[in-house]
Amino acid sequence: DQSDVETLQRIAAARDAARPVAEVLALRPATGSLHPVINPATGETIGEVMHVDAATVTRAIEDARPWDAPAAERAAVLRRAADLFETQFGEIFAALTHEAGKTLPDAVGELREAVDFLRYYAAEGETATAGPRGIIGAISPWNFPLAIFSGQIAAALMAGNAVIAKPAEPTPIIASIGVRLLHQAGVPRSALQLLPGRGSVVGTALATDPRVSGLVFTGSTATAQTIARNMAAHLAPGTPLIAETGGLNAMIVDSTALPEQAVRDIVASAFRSAGQRCSALRCLYVQEDIAPHLIEMIKGAMNELVVGDPWALSTDVGPVIDRRAQSTIADYLEEHRARILHQLAVPQTGTFIPPTMIAVRGIEDLDREIFGPVLHVATFRGEDLGRVVQAINAKGYGLTFGLHTRIDSRVQEVAGAIHVGNIYVNRNQIGAVVGSQPFGGEGLSGTGPKAGGPNYVGRFFAPPVASIP
Ligand code: NAD
Repeated sequence: DQSDVETLQRIAAARDAARPVAEVLALRPATGSLHPVINPATGETIGEVMHVDAATVTRAIEDARPWDAPAAERAAVLRRAADLFETQFGEIFAALTHEAGKTLPDAVGELREAVDFLRYYAAEGETATAGPRGIIGAISPWNFPLAIFSGQIAAALMAGNAVIAKPAEPTPIIASIGVRLLHQAGVPRSALQLLPGRGSVVGTALATDPRVSGLVFTGSTATAQTIARNMAAHLAPGTPLIAETGGLNAMIVDSTALPEQAVRDIVASAFRSAGQRCSALRCLYVQEDIAPHLIEMIKGAMNELVVGDPWALSTDVGPVIDRRAQSTIADYLEEHRARILHQLAVPQTGTFIPPTMIAVRGIEDLDREIFGPVLHVATFRGEDLGRVVQAINAKGYGLTFGLHTRIDSRVQEVAGAIHVGNIYVNRNQIGAVVGSQPFGGEGLSGTGPKAGGPNYVGRFFAPPVASIP
């Protein structure tokens, strides 16, 4: 409505005023090499970052000191940081748009989630029983460069640890803003250090140093497996790794579903954030008798999506993160050209990928997570529902699953049989509400415990932090 429009316009004005330009993130006394930071929508260089070397990681580990203030004081500092994040929203939105290609609604959602994480872990940690303390390496992805990054840090700090945070290569500026605000709120520098750089250098150095007491990781399944191997080779057995990883997420829409609602949720789940959410819908199953009609409706809803400049208020789908992601996804689309049911057009500049719908026989045709705006669609006969659930389980991932039906007993039956961390019924399957709905996967999708839930990083230490009812 009009007040929402006015709010968005005010937010956009603040974001415009804070446009980040040529920020140089050079850490002292870091040694390493300078690398450009690129705006994915335009290809412009918006800043430079020092990728630190392994010697800098060693020095950071030597300098790290768990923050020995009482839990109530640490909680107060994290709440102050949450307030600062909210006050600095223009700068944060500008960085999320320019560096990560986020649309304004996505940036708003991400800031909300980051702030919720800070306040949630402040509350959870306040009731913690102090356990042994150590140094936690926090390794985060670029797709939620503020929310996941802040959630990992807040949980580890409230569980009593020093944190060394390693942001993903494409998004160091947003990470540096987050850390600057956390320091400004009162987190000591020795309790929180930021080390931008290559995963293979900084991440490996953290995983292989016996002085690091545990790692908290969000990213791809393959990277989590590499980290686990590195830790197994160099550290004492039992050194903990908490990993939230990738998925091959499915949704089932049966013939009793409300078509308009299902289509709205399918399009949001598959294409919002340009499909760059771990929770995004990858494989849709539609019951055979409604499939032709529903697929036509999906095409119509796709045609309404505005793909382009994430800076524009009307944009629904921005770019994918970088050239490498763009060419990997473009190659995949080329390989599956013959099975494309629908595809939009996209701007020629920047790293855009056209939202695309591809016909498949079933989830068994998906051989990997394609991290972009690509929806696979299969049909099923009512009597084959059990086989569909088995096929989804057989992929071995288990992050999110969506179900659209109006049959209550079917919800119970399918929810009881599917092996995933988060099930969404008659709604979209992206997003979780911090504090009320922990988020995480099973199988190849994660080790648990779930982020935004009790004992996330506190589990590293006994006795664990108390849970919030
Ligand atoms: P990625 O695995 O490529 O990178 C994640 C982080 O790991 C980055 O900081 C990277 O530098 C670092 N890294 C890379 N190699 C490393 C190594 N050898 N040792 C230590 N660290 C290393 O993932 P990404 O492309 O940044 O993010 C997208 C992936 O993250 C997708 O698979 C997505 O599904 C997943 N994801 C999962 C969740 C979840 O909650 N389950 C949330 C967001 C993203």
